[in-house]
This record gives sequence, C-alpha cells and structure tokens, in this order.
Amino acid sequence: MNHYNETNVFNSGRTGSIEVICGSMFSGKTEELIRRLRRAVFAKQKVEIFKPAMEIRYSEEEIVSHDQNTITGTPVENSGNILLLSSDIDVVGIDEAQFFDDGLPDVCNQLANQGIRVIVAGLDMDYKGNPFGPMPALCAIAEDVTKVHAICVECGRLASYSYRLVKNEKLILLGEKEEYQPLCRECFNRLNSR
Ligand SMILES: [Zn+2]
Repeated sequence: MNHYNETNVFNSGRTGSIEVICGSMFSGKTEELIRRLRRAVFAKQKVEIFKPAMEIRYSEEEIVSHDQNTITGTPVENSGNILLLSSDIDVVGIDEAQFFDDGLPDVCNQLANQGIRVIVAGLDMDYKGNPFGPMPALCAIAEDVTKVHAICVECGRLASYSYRLVKNEKLILLGEKEEYQPLCRECFNRLNSR
C-alpha cells in the first residue's frame, strides 16, 4: 500500500471516473473505500454507498469495515438499481462489488459518463484464486486501480489470496470471516495441495 495515486486529476471539475480498490480478504479494501468517501463527505460532496442486498454479514443498513468504521449504505438487489438511485450524486461508492451481476461495469461506465466519481471495492479473486465476478472487467475499465494486500498468516509476506478453511465448494459463503485466511501465493499453493 505505498502508491495511492487516486489522482484527483481524474475527478476535478466534475469529470466522472472509475476507481477500483481490490485485494484479498483482510486487506483493508472497505477501510480504504470509507477513507475516500469520508474525504468527499468532508468536502460537502453528495455521497451514496451501495452494496449487494445479499451482503448481510453484520448489519442491514451500514457498511461495516472490520475495524467497525461505519458508514451508511444502501443494499440493492442488482446493479441496475444503482443507476436509478444515483441521480444528483457526486460520488458513488460500491462495496463487495464481486457479488454484483455482470451488468455492474456498464452501470459504472454510465455513471462516470454522467460526471460521477465511482469508487468500487471488492475481492479480485475467489477462494480458488480465480477472478471474481465483475471485478476483472471493472479493473479493465477503471482510470485507477489500487490493489491492497493482507499479511500472510503462515509466513508474514504480503498476501493476495483468500484461503478457505472449511471444505465447501459453494462460491459464496455467508457468515465468512472465521472461514478464511489471507495467504501469499506460495503458502496458498502449499495448503491447497495437501
Ligand atoms: Zn505465505
């Protein structure tokens, strides 16, 4: 996390743009999203935050990062609803973007083309290490991509993978946290091969 070039050149004078914050679990994605949104709120910009309605780990109405930094969010059923709810907004934040449908990149483009600053946070890889949902497409169309890292619980290096501790083939496990550990590539491969 040494290169925050969330270059304000991209969003001066209400020119829309897309920023992506991606990484594994426990990498601080939501904290970084909240940091950027708080700065916008402080600057009296109109901010709206959306998350998938299925994301009900902690609270119905609030986006809660792991350090309990809370900021109010609106649960939506699909990406199309974000367009309907984003009129008259300066900055749109989207959390847990990996759980959204494949329409999300197009929605983000439309918002950015309307002059809105869009900040998207999400897991870039699923527990198998495969690109997750709409995240790769979002990274491709974004002006700015920040990849944040967790710390590997096995060796202390930077971690990019979310290793699942329980045997379950479902892509999405709600309840989560306790069931995952951040691992580096080497440790991820070693634990998956035994
Ligand atoms: Zn490791």
